[in-house]
Amino acid sequence: MRGIADLGDIAGRTVLLRADLNTPLDGTTITDDGRIRASLPTISKLAGGGARVLILAHLGRPSGDSYAQRAAGGPSLAPVAARLSELLGHEVALAGDVAEDSAAGVVARLADGGVAMAENIRFEPAETSKDDAERAGLARRLAALAGPRGLYVGDGFGALHRKHASVYDLPALLPHAAGDLVLAEVAVLRQLTENPQRPYVVVLGGAKPSDKLAVIANLLGSADRLIIGGGMSYTFLRAQGYEVGKSLLEENMIPQVSELLDEAARRGVKVVLPVDLVAATGYSPDAEHEVVPVGDFPADRESLDMGPATRELFASALADARTVFWNGPVGVFEFPAFAAGTRAVAEAISRVSGLTVVGGGDSAAAVRILGFPDDAFTHISTGGGASLEYLEGRPLPGLAALEADEAAA
Ligand code: ADP
Ligand code: MG
Repeated sequence: MRGIADLGDIAGRTVLLRADLNTPLDGTTITDDGRIRASLPTISKLAGGGARVLILAHLGRPSGDSYAQRAAGGPSLAPVAARLSELLGHEVALAGDVAEDSAAGVVARLADGGVAMAENIRFEPAETSKDDAERAGLARRLAALAGPRGLYVGDGFGALHRKHASVYDLPALLPHAAGDLVLAEVAVLRQLTENPQRPYVVVLGGAKPSDKLAVIANLLGSADRLIIGGGMSYTFLRAQGYEVGKSLLEENMIPQVSELLDEAARRGVKVVLPVDLVAATGYSPDAEHEVVPVGDFPADRESLDMGPATRELFASALADARTVFWNGPVGVFEFPAFAAGTRAVAEAISRVSGLTVVGGGDSAAAVRILGFPDDAFTHISTGGGASLEYLEGRPLPGLAALEADEAAA
């Protein structure tokens, strides 16, 4: 895969940089700017080389059938542009549209080494369209912004598993390269899949098993131990016959989960499940709660975190690991009263000597919000879905597009 250096002299050329700046927001306040920070090296490298950088990025999930509806509903990238300006120490202009007059004007005003942004690319319904022609149309409009000597750099690792116009179709239209973040992320994922040091322990949490069953199935071929916690663990516990009350449950996944547990047993992969849970009266930050063993879960309660015995069990299953991949908080860490399980997992992983990778938007936000320094782990991935699909062994459309040559114009 080509890197930025392979693009040759970029001075004075317009570079469309697809970045992943999809940061969690509380209203218009950014609660974790990790993805913005992770994009800085590539932005600075391009600007430092004298390129005129127009950043393309999405934020949240705008809804509506038309550009107008989506733009009216938001979210705008304005808070992201403001934060990026602060981090870069100079003004980053934000266009009022994605690929229309405002974006064209912003590009025209860019000086060599300047950085600007187009508005939330998902305001354009074509960005995520399943219709190839619709996506291609948007890609052509975007490519036109960059002019005849335009370039494309793909650095939005967290979006590489999406077959979207700015990720998949646009690189085919311009000479392109992968950004430094994408190269670093892919190098780490390769280490996980090609010959990990053992024991290789995978921790999976998060809300729903349906998101992650495919990766679990694939990991049974490489991991030595699988720790299952968080919202997805209740379906596993239910599959083993335990009552889980009103906890998150994907009833229809139980047969698949049971099969997976059987397959793990056949392959000798140890599956570590919770032994006690924090049972709360409801989903709220100040819900009353108590610790109960898994065999004794009250029918009218809902679990929002792992109990102390589970925290110890998970930590001991991680103690001798040489390679760790972790995706998915094991409790509702957003509520401080229910963050202990996630904190315990993060602590145990930070003590591991070997390759430790944290992947997933919420997981990365969790470790930062809980106060862990970035260097407590070998690598904090900016992409949950993208890392998981890579580990599932699925080709990532955006990665394939970066690896391919652009079509002859
Ligand atoms: P990532 O973004 O890292 O891939 P997910 O999106 O899969 O992670 O899951 C994150 C969400 O899972 C968090 O918002 C968290 O509140 C929720 N979650 C974790 N554990 C539980 C639990 N025990 N009960 C309910 N929700 C949970
Ligand atoms: Mg998430």
